[in-house]
Amino acid sequence: MFSFKKPEWFIFDLYKFTLKSKYSCDYLCNFATVNFSSKTIENAVNALSGFPGVGKRSALRMVMHLLKRPVEEAENLSKVINKLKTELTQCTVCCNISDSNICSICNSVNRNRLLVCVVEDMMDVMAIENTGQYNGMYHVLGGLISPIDGVGPEELNIRELVARMENEPPEEIIIALNANIEGDTTAFYLARKLQSFPIKISTISKGISVGSELEYTDEITLGRSLTARVPYSI
Ligand SMILES: [Zn+2]
Repeated sequence: MFSFKKPEWFIFDLYKFTLKSKYSCDYLCNFATVNFSSKTIENAVNALSGFPGVGKRSALRMVMHLLKRPVEEAENLSKVINKLKTELTQCTVCCNISDSNICSICNSVNRNRLLVCVVEDMMDVMAIENTGQYNGMYHVLGGLISPIDGVGPEELNIRELVARMENEPPEEIIIALNANIEGDTTAFYLARKLQSFPIKISTISKGISVGSELEYTDEITLGRSLTARVPYSI
């Protein structure tokens, strides 16, 4: 049955509709023009939108979600974030982020210490660990050489890697860096830097990914696959 709404409710619905349509067409991407009704919410949105991949729209959703949750949940989140900055340290052996001075991988007696895989950051350690195919050690560089971004070899944990080669030389170093200019530059620098050590230096294969088709593979990747071809083992 049709019921006539009070005028103020009609205006409120119209306001909601206008907001919804504005917000749904990425209006919130340009959030600078939006006036927040609360300075506290605005501060929270600004703080959260500083995270990679989080825009102001997503940040506002997070804030609204938090407001609906119990206060204990917000307190726990605050504690967890605080611990990230106060309780984490860098492993003195592999330079990975760790809960203690020596991380669980470097402390393990079940790892092959004659193999050291050089990676950019902790995310790469996790990616390689998740393959279940590697049981050696790691060395985390903490970045890649990138002159455009002002990152030189001195900013990376290369000095620590060289010291490691002198103190406890492995049989092989596996350079596992990104397949881009920064990764290639860093790999070349490392290979030159470590060539005086009697250590085998290898790099991970770069080629077409499993499940992909040749005709859809880009020329650079396909070219690299041909150059770095391996004997077919039966
Ligand atoms: Zn470690």
